[in-house]
Amino acid sequence: MDAKEWKEKLLSEKKNGYDLLDPAEREPMNAYCEAYKAYMNAAKTERECVREGIRQAEEKGFRPYVPGMALAPGDKVYHSNRGKMLLLAVIGQKSLAEGAQMVAAHIDSPRLDLKPNPLYEDGELAYLKTRYYGGIRKYQWMVMPLELHGVVARKDGTTVEVSIGAGDDEPKLVMTDLLPHLAREQSRKPLAEAFPGEQLNILFCSEPMEGDEKDRVKLAAMKLLYEKYGITEADFLSAELEAVPAFKAMDIGFDRSMIGAYGQDDRACGYAGLKALLDLEAVPEKTAVCVLADKEEIGSTGVSAMKTADFDKFMEDLCEGQGVSLRECFAHSFCLSCDVAAAYDPNFPEAFERNNSAFMNYGMGVCKYTGGGGKGGASDASAEVMAYARRIFDGNGILWQVSELGKVDGGGGGTVAGYMADRNIDTLDAGMPLLAMHAPFEITAKLDCYMTYKAMKVVYMN
Ligand code: MN
Ligand code: MN
Repeated sequence: MDAKEWKEKLLSEKKNGYDLLDPAEREPMNAYCEAYKAYMNAAKTERECVREGIRQAEEKGFRPYVPGMALAPGDKVYHSNRGKMLLLAVIGQKSLAEGAQMVAAHIDSPRLDLKPNPLYEDGELAYLKTRYYGGIRKYQWMVMPLELHGVVARKDGTTVEVSIGAGDDEPKLVMTDLLPHLAREQSRKPLAEAFPGEQLNILFCSEPMEGDEKDRVKLAAMKLLYEKYGITEADFLSAELEAVPAFKAMDIGFDRSMIGAYGQDDRACGYAGLKALLDLEAVPEKTAVCVLADKEEIGSTGVSAMKTADFDKFMEDLCEGQGVSLRECFAHSFCLSCDVAAAYDPNFPEAFERNNSAFMNYGMGVCKYTGGGGKGGASDASAEVMAYARRIFDGNGILWQVSELGKVDGGGGGTVAGYMADRNIDTLDAGMPLLAMHAPFEITAKLDCYMTYKAMKVVYMN
């Protein structure tokens, strides 16, 4: 053999996904991305993701799961955990004793949560105080239109849904920044210090109520809230109100090859996992389970997060229906922890190591480990699990690449993977590359989104 033949035999060459994409895939890829954008516009909070997920699942024949209900292969069920986490399953042909094929993603995204006492007046303007949720770079969130989504639970047990700014003609909210003329001191500060958390106050209203009461703007704002939602100031104490960017999902690039939207970490994966399950054409061999978890961005702790016993309860109830023990099921299960990867950004090459970075348009990123520094906090998938992934993805025409979360010692992060692996479930991280992760507006490539969706189908069916 000559060098060229040896090269072909021995070395692996990375290729842009567009050099490998079957032309017949173009149309389904674009159709998938249109549906994905519509989902992103309908679901800007974890609660809205659950609601939209249930709506789409019911359209495909999924029914609410009731413990003890008789289930047969092919049956489709879902369980909503307090409206903030969604579990879906398609019962497989084999017993749960042989394990389930799972996809777990998260549907919470970085945002600004209102504090329990949010409303105040200063300088005859009404503001809402926030506590940021998740890892945000605060300066990115200033001076851009925001919407307010969420619920207010009243003391009498009733709940009212709040949505301000979601419609095109609805008013938006905003946080202000200093004019450059007067920002000399602020501009000298390091990025992390220039915007203290207590300055993340949302401009809410400006027109005062007639009369000479103190805080007339705040009072007028509260009156508007009372008239529209029937709530008083005390009701803020039992509310979950989230300020999110007012952007719609949109095509990015003159060639329309990318998607820009708020919350693609991790709804790009959540949607892929959901849609793949909804679109399964045949009854899977093993039971296919899709997990859409809340609270990943703040550590996966909490009653609606991946560590919740509600997930174990759902799985155990399904197992009991078949006379199988949960630990037996978990021991033979596989979970793809589907979360976005950090895409190599040519604008910031110093943050990445090229040989092990995920590139835009190279397909789904498969991440053996996340974590920081010396794999700290990572669920490091075994060589055998990686080999299994190579086998099922290569064997089913999935375009994929390896991904690592940036340079060694550059920082780090985690996903829900560890909490699945802790349950004795073989788990692997994977997801599409994302530019500007955690920014109010994040960028994915259409090809990568579509390949991740196809890969989730392969996981469910293998
Ligand atoms: Mn994520
Ligand atoms: Mn994240």
